[in-house]
Amino acid sequence: MSCRLFSPYCCRFRRSPLLEVKGNIEVKRPLVKAPSRLPLPGSRFKRGPDQMEDALEPEKKRTRGLGTAPKIATSRPRAPALTTVPQTQGQTAAPKVPKKTGPRCSTAIATVLKNQKPGPAAVPAQKPGTAAAPPMLGGKKPSKRPAWDLKGQLCDLTAELKCYRERTQTLDQENEQLRDQLREAQQQATVLGAERRTLEGELARVQAQAEQGQQELGNLSARVLELEERLGTQESLVQELQKEQLGLQEERRGLATRLEEQERRLQTSEAALSGSQAEVASLRQETVAQAALLAERGERLHGLEMERRRLHNQLQELKGNIRVFCRVRPVLPGEPTPSPGFLLFPSGPGGPSDLPTRLSLSRSDERRGTLSGAPAPPTRHDFSFDRVFPPGSGQDEVFEEIAMLVQSALDGYPVCIFAYGQTGSGKTFTMEGGPGGDPQVEGLIPRALRHLFSIAQELGGQGWTYSFVASYVEIYNETVRDLLATGTRKGQGGECEIRRAGPGSEELTVTNARYVPVSCEKEVEALLHLARQNRAVARTAQNERSSRSHSVFQLQISGEHAARGLQCGAPLSLVDLAGSERLDPGLALGPGERERLRETQAINSSLSTLGLVIMALSNKESHVPYRNSKLTYLLQNSLGGSAKMLMFVNISPLEENVSESLNSLRFASKVNQCVIGTAQANRK
Ligand code: ADP
Ligand code: MG
Repeated sequence: MSCRLFSPYCCRFRRSPLLEVKGNIEVKRPLVKAPSRLPLPGSRFKRGPDQMEDALEPEKKRTRGLGTAPKIATSRPRAPALTTVPQTQGQTAAPKVPKKTGPRCSTAIATVLKNQKPGPAAVPAQKPGTAAAPPMLGGKKPSKRPAWDLKGQLCDLTAELKCYRERTQTLDQENEQLRDQLREAQQQATVLGAERRTLEGELARVQAQAEQGQQELGNLSARVLELEERLGTQESLVQELQKEQLGLQEERRGLATRLEEQERRLQTSEAALSGSQAEVASLRQETVAQAALLAERGERLHGLEMERRRLHNQLQELKGNIRVFCRVRPVLPGEPTPSPGFLLFPSGPGGPSDLPTRLSLSRSDERRGTLSGAPAPPTRHDFSFDRVFPPGSGQDEVFEEIAMLVQSALDGYPVCIFAYGQTGSGKTFTMEGGPGGDPQVEGLIPRALRHLFSIAQELGGQGWTYSFVASYVEIYNETVRDLLATGTRKGQGGECEIRRAGPGSEELTVTNARYVPVSCEKEVEALLHLARQNRAVARTAQNERSSRSHSVFQLQISGEHAARGLQCGAPLSLVDLAGSERLDPGLALGPGERERLRETQAINSSLSTLGLVIMALSNKESHVPYRNSKLTYLLQNSLGGSAKMLMFVNISPLEENVSESLNSLRFASKVNQCVIGTAQANRK
């Protein structure tokens, strides 16, 4: 009777998973697998796929991760896992009966049932097979009833049926219980679905937030990169600034040190300044006192200067307004040595210490013989002058004697210095100097001017200002020529005329002549050089004209004391006269000699006129024959009563010139005897 009641495909005898497990072990019949293929009674709880998924989802998770607790906590207590298990098969196969149940499912159910608490209606924990089966002796299967034992077989079947009925009841109860559990699980699934949706919403929100966060993160990363870049830039900037700061700090320290130093110095300076201010104040007072003293001293000095001028002039007058100095030149190389005693320079009354003023010249007159026929002893001619310069006297020595006289020109007294003597006696040497520009042999003209410039500068300290204007002319054969002519007029300069500077004026001027302002030695040197050149050119044209003409160097001196309204001015004339030698009357007169004679007559005439003028002045005659010669006419302002005159009589040391020497000495002696009235300074 293995009818379809026992068929594994009979729906009425579907077994619970528990029974299936046990049945597999105990009952070796197709029944064993039947329960797993039974459609679950819950097929009437047909649901939509969504609901099923909702219900299944947590179950799957739980099944997979049984060891791990569910991550999402819920407030509701969870139903036992058993409640959901059957549905996995039952629901999907609800409308039709499944043919097979996989061993995996059975194992899962068995596993779940192991953990399940036995419910009140649970099947007792006895093997269904054993409980319902007919009793077995010694654990052995009852031996098969003989075919004839139908009653026994019926009994067995009744017992088995009874057992199955009980078991069916149990299974129904269990089924009912499972349905309850299913309902509960479904409710729970609903709740969980809602929860899932909430969670999904939350997840979406969280994802959106995450995306937003991601975006923000991206933005922030970009921002971070940008900021890092900026930070790098800022850091390098900061480093630079730090370096700069270090440099500045260093500089600041340096400046601070300097500042301290400067402050210290300032303090020192301030202290010094206050000291200096006090000193300045006292110095100011002192200066005021000094200024007063200076003014007083200036006043006194001026008085003294005036007094000096007066006394100086008195001294010059005492020395004589006309003075005569005799200068004997040395014997030049190649010239015959004069016999001893030819020229003697006797000492004065004061002995050798006295400056020499006397000169003796011995002349042996061959025409005069003694009666016995022996040569007459030489005649001694004694002369006395203001000063005699023997041959060894230097230019400086000579100048020393006239320096005081030159100063009189600055004081406003006309001064005139002549060099008189025969040709070759040393007139030009005395006035202009020796050849070669040697300072030792510089003549009176450059020395006098240097002296004047120097004294003028000293007097400048007392308020005097001086100006000097030079002219240099020669008078040859009573014609005046400019020695400072330049250009086409050089050497051949047109004739000049001596004229009064203006109608009624005492001042004389030479027309066509250059008047050159001078203020230093160099300018004077240049003028003397120019004059020499002019004379040299003339010499080639007319033989030795220079010695046959008078050279007149004139310096117009003008002084002014602006503060006191004082003015003074006077000419200083330095004259190199033409040779005083006379023409030998015994000489035959050829055409050259006749010309020479005319020259000589002109020279002699002018020299005589000079002597006559000096005489007339000395004798205070009413008429002074200035006009008789160009020389005296030109020099009239330097020879008048207020003038001081000095004549150098130059003597040759040679015996052959004794006659001319005597003539010169006699002329000079006459001049020396003259006394010109008291000189008056030309003060305005
Ligand atoms: P002067 O002008 O009277 O014709 P110089 O002055 O030309 O005469 O002199 C003639 C020569 O004698 C020149 O060579 C000059 O150098 C020289 N002489 C003149 N006087 C002196 C002196 N005191 N010392 C040296 N040499 C002199
Ligand atoms: Mg001369």
